[in-house]
Amino acid sequence: MIRIGIPRALLYYQYYPMWKTFFEELGAEVVVSPLTTQAILAKGSSRVVADTCLPVKAFLGHVLALVERCDWIFIPAIRSVSKNIYNCSKFLGLPDMTRAVVPESPPILDIDIDINKGKRKLYQAIYQLGRHFTWNPFKVRRASLAAWQTYLNYRELMSSQGLTPLQAIERISGTPETESEVPSSQPTSTQTNYRSSRSAEDTKRRAQKAEPGLSGNIALIGHQYLLYDEYINHRLIHRLEQAGSKVLTPEMLTTEELQSAIATLVGRAYWTYEEEVVGAGGHYLQSGADGVIGIMAFGCGPDSLMMDTVRRQAARLRATPFMSLALEEHTAEAGVVTRLEAFIDMIYRMKRRRVEVCV
Ligand code: SF4
Repeated sequence: MIRIGIPRALLYYQYYPMWKTFFEELGAEVVVSPLTTQAILAKGSSRVVADTCLPVKAFLGHVLALVERCDWIFIPAIRSVSKNIYNCSKFLGLPDMTRAVVPESPPILDIDIDINKGKRKLYQAIYQLGRHFTWNPFKVRRASLAAWQTYLNYRELMSSQGLTPLQAIERISGTPETESEVPSSQPTSTQTNYRSSRSAEDTKRRAQKAEPGLSGNIALIGHQYLLYDEYINHRLIHRLEQAGSKVLTPEMLTTEELQSAIATLVGRAYWTYEEEVVGAGGHYLQSGADGVIGIMAFGCGPDSLMMDTVRRQAARLRATPFMSLALEEHTAEAGVVTRLEAFIDMIYRMKRRRVEVCV
């Protein structure tokens, strides 16, 4: 059976269930790289210049983790999935960049997705991809329809049941997406220290003392590959939950809510990921959240523009506290924890004041 490798980075969080269904319907076995670790990130970083963004460095590390574990590696070049809305240039050149900097990579299965070229081109691209497994076009069509249905179910699970992508992937595939998936036989010292960090315990202790309900609803906005990669973001969601906060994410909003916030803030979207930054930020600043945290990658052009739009809106409204965190490979865990605690404390104090005033 042909083994197809999928790096657990970048678009994995958005499309993994769909890709998995497509390849499995065509008779292939899907292999996913392990959770991000310091070693994976360091290996990826060693292949590119320093100012490459953190998610791309992590992606290359995941490709390296799949070398010798699969026959092909799937790296699509996704230019656009909505009319006149584009991905950042890193996604367009991902297969070529990987070939250039990871020469030992297994052969790359790429597919060029650009909805602006019309549906016919899209179907041709999918068929070309399917031809690596079968010459029967009906089989490819069946696989792509099953994959699309899986994608719709995945989106539905997240928006209607408030699941994160990791929880939805777990629900669909039955595979744990949590720490337990890392082979327990080979924990690196970094992983061990990281997971049992004292700061996490401190946060938990403080949360246990806090009055229930005062830690607030905290919205996290940003790319899925930043929000859900626990190594890259220093377990942000886990820390917020430990502190007693309810975490809200962009996937918990409907497309209508996201698009209406974008229309209010910028008119029309230009970047593919505007929904998860500008849309979610604009929505949560006005409803449902006690605080909004924007997670961005250091050195990311689109992020700096989109996050600034949200920051300016927060300053204009002066209703919901907003904080942005820029992540890079040298971001210290202690620095993230300190800023997080200060932010939660501020929300706690604001809510307590509101409660006292209402009494
Ligand atoms: S959008 Fe930003 S973080 Fe994402 S790949 Fe492009 S440059 Fe990197």
